[in-house]
Amino acid sequence: MTKAIRIFKTGGPEVMEYVDVEVGDPGPGEVRLRHAAVGLNFIDVYFRTGLYPQPLPGGLGQEGAGTIEAVGAGVTGFAVGDRVAYAGRGGNGAYAEERLISADVLVKLPDSISFDTAAAMMLQGMTVQYLLRQTTPLKSGDTILFHAAAGGIGLIASQWAKALGVNMIGTVSTEEKAALAKAAGCAHVINYKTENFVERVKEITGGKGVPVVYDSIGKDTFTGSLDCLSPRGMMVSFGNASGPVPPFGMSELASRGSLYLTRPSLGAYTATRDALDATAGDLFAMVQSKKLSIDINQRYALKDVAQAHADLEGRKTTGSTILIP
Ligand code: NDP
Repeated sequence: MTKAIRIFKTGGPEVMEYVDVEVGDPGPGEVRLRHAAVGLNFIDVYFRTGLYPQPLPGGLGQEGAGTIEAVGAGVTGFAVGDRVAYAGRGGNGAYAEERLISADVLVKLPDSISFDTAAAMMLQGMTVQYLLRQTTPLKSGDTILFHAAAGGIGLIASQWAKALGVNMIGTVSTEEKAALAKAAGCAHVINYKTENFVERVKEITGGKGVPVVYDSIGKDTFTGSLDCLSPRGMMVSFGNASGPVPPFGMSELASRGSLYLTRPSLGAYTATRDALDATAGDLFAMVQSKKLSIDINQRYALKDVAQAHADLEGRKTTGSTILIP
């Protein structure tokens, strides 16, 4: 038996129960993994509340790092004792001491990357990699708007944008978060609680607007984000921290100057072994070259995950958060 979080219904943080579960032996193509650390991500909130549906009872958690304990039939490239990590494609179930998981979604960890760092960065770091390097490949001198610049994704994006020579305009809700984003490399920071972010983006860009907006806030910022784009700009809507974007007319894109819109997810950018290894490899290289440091600003025991969710939803966290089984 192993300890794990299960939900039997969707709802608030209190629906997460810390229970004993049977893990069993890995089936064909699977391994049994003992987690040293587990990542906390906003997507876990969407599954807990039911915004993203899943069969119940179900597990939660999309990201972890640890050691392989057993290998199923047909697994190649991984062995008992390997240090590995994963994010996004293993299905929910990372909130556990041990789990079964497909070997297809694992990557081996370089010795220089700790379990804590891996659990904190795999999902958020690979997401920033595909957003800045693949969805809209950026070049030095570009200016972008990136919301929630002091969050897990945000502090990684601030550093990665700086490393690329990109002028990132970031939004945050407090002055403390503004200081964190600025220190991480975000060129301009807007407090969207006290300032009109559309007007500020126009001021900063001399009225031109930005060619790309990265919006993970959703409902509260979507229309304002479209207003920040220059003609033929790209709206990257990649999350819904304030709620899902309501349906809107396609003419909204035409009237603002032939805008583009994409709604990407990490799974599509790491769907093959080559794509996963390339995306993770780029992230590891950024960390190993010290262009990127992972700020683990919160740690919770796995059994205290309800508090972790309340803090994340309550906008009390900054940078990345891990759970320790
Ligand atoms: P964060 O650490 O960024 O936490 C979310 C932040 O969103 C908060 O800290 C808060 O920052 C801001 N926010 C704005 N409005 C609200 C609100 N109403 N309720 C709560 N938070 C709000 O989380 P992550 O780094 O884990 O994820 C960031 C976003 O990226 C999420 O929307 C997530 O779903 C998305 N994502 C998408 C992926 C994809 O591939 N599509 C992959 C990974 C993440 P502030 O107080 O400064 O406003």
